[in-house]
Amino acid sequence: MSAPPEEILARDLMGRLESLARFSDGSPGVTRFTYSQPWCEAHRWLAREAEGMGLAATADWAGNLYFHDRGLAPGAPALLIGSHLDSVMHGGFYDGAYGTIAGLLVAAACRGGPGLPVVGFVTCEEEDSRFHGGMMGGRSLLGRVEEGELDSVADREGVTWRQALAAVREQGCAALLGASGTTAPPLFRPALELELHIEQGPVLEAQHLSLGIVERIAGYRRWIARIEGEARHSGTTPMALRRDALAAAAEMILAAESAAREAGEPAVGTAGYLRPEPGLFNVVPGNCELWLEARHDRPDQLERLAADVAQRCWGIAQRRKVRLGLQEGAAQNPTALSPALAEVAVKLAQELEIPHRRMPSGAAHDTMIFAQAGTPALMVFVPSRAGISHSPDEFTSEEDLVTGVRFMATLAGRLSERPPA
Ligand SMILES: [Zn+2]
Repeated sequence: MSAPPEEILARDLMGRLESLARFSDGSPGVTRFTYSQPWCEAHRWLAREAEGMGLAATADWAGNLYFHDRGLAPGAPALLIGSHLDSVMHGGFYDGAYGTIAGLLVAAACRGGPGLPVVGFVTCEEEDSRFHGGMMGGRSLLGRVEEGELDSVADREGVTWRQALAAVREQGCAALLGASGTTAPPLFRPALELELHIEQGPVLEAQHLSLGIVERIAGYRRWIARIEGEARHSGTTPMALRRDALAAAAEMILAAESAAREAGEPAVGTAGYLRPEPGLFNVVPGNCELWLEARHDRPDQLERLAADVAQRCWGIAQRRKVRLGLQEGAAQNPTALSPALAEVAVKLAQELEIPHRRMPSGAAHDTMIFAQAGTPALMVFVPSRAGISHSPDEFTSEEDLVTGVRFMATLAGRLSERPPA
């Protein structure tokens, strides 16, 4: 390694995290949707930072970014370490950004090392906040996008992925997108993948631990429920004669909640969006759109939970005599990460005397796409204060943030020299 991890200083990390957080839309917290102006500016700033640190910065067609040795040939096998650049609306300072800066610092620290090249990566879209394509960033990085998705995946305004890419070019940001296309192989072949992330949950803090070695990532099933009842005058339609789409949706929201509660931890069920029509005081809602999601970290139990949620919704629709369309949205299967990499990470944490535990992740991350593609992959978590994430109140102490990055630099250095068989 060209620089020992102790030389990754708190100010290198904290200053860059603060800089990256400034690329936002001006509302509270960080709002950085894929291909938006703040996203383009953050992308450009990261490339400049990498170049200032002696690395090359290369983008692929989708706008995923890589930090690597200038001499490294495209297509070379590499240890990839990074996270995502996009955020949810009013997100926090650390989600994605922390792993992104960590990837940059670790790639710089490992530059010119004797083993497997260490390449930092930044995915363009992980949060599904703008598009609902399901891990579009990670999938495009790994060459797992069908050409047709460029036209079928669209944001809430109906802007397709292809149109959004064209808009980036028209904004004068063409340099942020590489020339290759959906069928191109990954810019660097991921021999191993690592991601450092805030936990986004309360476990590490509650147990006074500094690191979580992630063994499994929960999968999810999503539905867009379209409920059709009858819009009627709210003053003249007796209760017994109503077919209220919003009241049916309300029951479905609670049904998703009860299904998950009854399945027991770590099952979760959530309704994240509701749009009743026509949305007036004096009209019984005739139509309603509702988004539902169920998660579990075990494949068979996720299937059972998903079937239960759907069945309860059908039952409610039947009883309330409303029409129901249950469109399945993006889905992710629960994913096991590399036991061999977890073993190396646990041994290293023991050696460095860093308080740690093995744990599952309830949140989805790009790392699951790598693992599903057959790349040995591992995630490491640092604590989130009060478990808060996807909020401007997201917070992790400087000490924990620095510990995480130094740990990853040591881990990446070790794995690059001696990848597990
Ligand atoms: Zn994230």
